[in-house]
Amino acid sequence: MKKSIIKQMALQRVRILIDSALYNNDEFAQNHIKIARKIISKYKLKIPFGYKILFCKNCKKYIVPGQDSSIRIGRSNTKALRITCKFCGHTYRKLLEKNTRRSNSKNKV
Ligand SMILES: [Zn+2]
Repeated sequence: MKKSIIKQMALQRVRILIDSALYNNDEFAQNHIKIARKIISKYKLKIPFGYKILFCKNCKKYIVPGQDSSIRIGRSNTKALRITCKFCGHTYRKLLEKNTRRSNSKNKV
């Protein structure tokens, strides 16, 4: 089997796992995230931004937006999303590109 097909399948699995963890949010959520993380590291996947913001960049924990993290739009001239982790207090920014509607719609969660 081609590598690209395997990666696509792996990404599909990761999507299913993370979606179920996010929307059901039951006792299995952490397990789903563990498995998803294993798959990501094994196949070196590039996960989309919508899923990337579910993981803290500092403590690597799974953070539910609105529950374990807060997402705000910065007031400075450079438009950016500010994502704050409530476990470690780490804030990181995601810069939004100027006048690119396509990239903005692509980045939607
Ligand atoms: Zn954190």
